[in-house]
Amino acid sequence: MKRTICIKLGTSSEQDRRLSLLQREFAHACNVLVPLAVENSCRNRVALHHLGYYGIRETVPDLGSQMACNAIAAVAQSYKSLLSNNPKFKKSIWPAINFRDTSSVHFDKRTYSIKGNAISLFTTEGRIIVPMKLGEFQKDFLDKGIPKEAELVCRSGKFFFNLVLDLPEAEQREPGYVAGVDLGENNIAAMNTGKLFGGGKLSHDRDKFLALRGRLQRNGSQSARQLLKKVSGREARHVTHVNHEVSKAIVAEAVRNECSTIAMEDLTNIRKRIKAGKRTRSRLHRWAWAQLQFFVAYKSQPVGIGVEYVNPAYTSQTCSVCGLLGTRVKHRFSCTCGSLAHSDLNASRNLARLGATAVASTGAVNRPYVGMV
Ligand SMILES: [Zn+2]
Repeated sequence: MKRTICIKLGTSSEQDRRLSLLQREFAHACNVLVPLAVENSCRNRVALHHLGYYGIRETVPDLGSQMACNAIAAVAQSYKSLLSNNPKFKKSIWPAINFRDTSSVHFDKRTYSIKGNAISLFTTEGRIIVPMKLGEFQKDFLDKGIPKEAELVCRSGKFFFNLVLDLPEAEQREPGYVAGVDLGENNIAAMNTGKLFGGGKLSHDRDKFLALRGRLQRNGSQSARQLLKKVSGREARHVTHVNHEVSKAIVAEAVRNECSTIAMEDLTNIRKRIKAGKRTRSRLHRWAWAQLQFFVAYKSQPVGIGVEYVNPAYTSQTCSVCGLLGTRVKHRFSCTCGSLAHSDLNASRNLARLGATAVASTGAVNRPYVGMV
């Protein structure tokens, strides 16, 4: 199983300067290759090497032979993704990709090496040794996995190393408890372990965003459209960040409670299920929830926890104690049997029960994610 970890680098200002220089030279080399790729409709790494290797070595000699090969790989990869995302380009002249000075730099095993808690990186002014700032999960992954290719990226002036690791398949846990995760409107998620992940900040931000989006859409001018694109991107990044944090906490909670499976609702009909005004039924939701589920599945795989998707019909109305229909008033769920619970927690308990039944009959599986990130 391949996993990418994003390692924060503890660079000095001199190292920052060298890495920025490397970024510029690398982008320069890529831009030298672009016309060759376009003229020859070439996205094959080996063919592109024959076309452009000597050109790069002459134009950007400092880059060295190995980094020249990495630039060729980067350009070939960029055109591969561009064409697979836009099949219409296959029949026309390919657009020229512009690699900017801040573009990422591709590293392979010959241009980096890991030494304990530090990493040795190729630069055009000689190798540098940079300390890695590793979290618990990352240390664990580094111990277990085999490092493969990597990308050096710079975000807000800080350097990060996105390293691909080949990890051994995690052994599936012995069948045990099932954790139920209910995705909600007011709370982002509720677990049958009793844990609630609040959505206060997120839903407030979302309301602000939706109001602004409405104003911009009504305005309709070109500058309004540009601003809309910008704030939409910012909103999506914010949701992604929150989803990463919440999914991490959900998996950690499942591990702490020795669960073997996480049961989540099948999202197919979620928009029918959520009773809310037009505002909260916005298109923003489905992908945000699908993304959260994908992150949970992605993060539970390396720790051997399976994921089960169950039909959520009636999970919010059914009493998790006696199985009859109860009454829900806002966040409070009550039933004639005497049970009283937070409505989201009650729903998560029902999901866990359904998940346990499903696991007993089929065994838990992880399924691929087809939504947008
Ligand atoms: Zn009941």
